Amino acid sequence: MPKMKYVDPLSATSLYIELYFNDVKISTATAFVLKYDEKYYLITNWHVVAGRDADTRECLDKKHCSIPNKLLVSFHKKGELGQWLEKEIQLLDEDGTPLWIEHPLSNLIDVIAIPIIETDEIDFFPIDFSLKDTDMAPLVAMPVSIIGYPLGLSIGGKWPIWKTGHIASDHDLDFVKDKPAFLIDATTRASMSGSPVVMRADSFQRLNGNYAIAAGVNTRFLGVYAGRISRDSEIGRVWKPFLISEIIEQKLIFNEETGRLAPTRNSNCPCGSQSKFKNCCGSVA
Ligand SMILES: [Zn+2]
Repeated sequence: MPKMKYVDPLSATSLYIELYFNDVKISTATAFVLKYDEKYYLITNWHVVAGRDADTRECLDKKHCSIPNKLLVSFHKKGELGQWLEKEIQLLDEDGTPLWIEHPLSNLIDVIAIPIIETDEIDFFPIDFSLKDTDMAPLVAMPVSIIGYPLGLSIGGKWPIWKTGHIASDHDLDFVKDKPAFLIDATTRASMSGSPVVMRADSFQRLNGNYAIAAGVNTRFLGVYAGRISRDSEIGRVWKPFLISEIIEQKLIFNEETGRLAPTRNSNCPCGSQSKFKNCCGSVA
């Protein structure tokens, strides 16, 4: 009997994606599958699908300003782990309107979701979203893994590569106001945008300050990697997991996890919709 090969479940979660304008390949990146309320979504960065810088909205393709209109995803072939099947996903409708789901604050948040449907050709290996709540404190200087496709490279077919970095800013502080992201220091490369970021340790600090020593390997999902903050910097942004809930629910969420403070019921909604808070993100459906 050949030895059974062990593959980390998170290695099956990251997927290699290619961005196209018609038949012209523009770029490659990373996405991952997430299950939310029994539905599946492909998660990646806004700048990846929009072809524009999420801060400035400037074209990433400086020469021709090519904006992708479709996505080619290498999904896992049904029942055949280690085999992949490329599937095309349209990014824009006939009028050029995006088919992905943005955050209520639009490109201010560099994360998007694309609804995907299971077929009898492909298998999904969604990330366990409850890993965002693992009782491990993400402290500065701790190592993290970014699971993606540096320079479009992959292993044994289309398996991702685990790059390592370190938490470079206090996790509870936002990168800048209204941008719930923290920084990591990692020698990441192009095409890693959209990778899930996790911390994994067997000795760590719990959220209450107590230590767990040799507790068995624990994993916490820390968010979505979105590339380096400048070309010359090793510093990159990781967007927090609760933003994915806000994208799928299409509203801002006000609780301890998000740290958002609810305004009064009759004030304008902070999502910028021009509606009153009580009729928008603050409505109790
Ligand atoms: Zn709102």
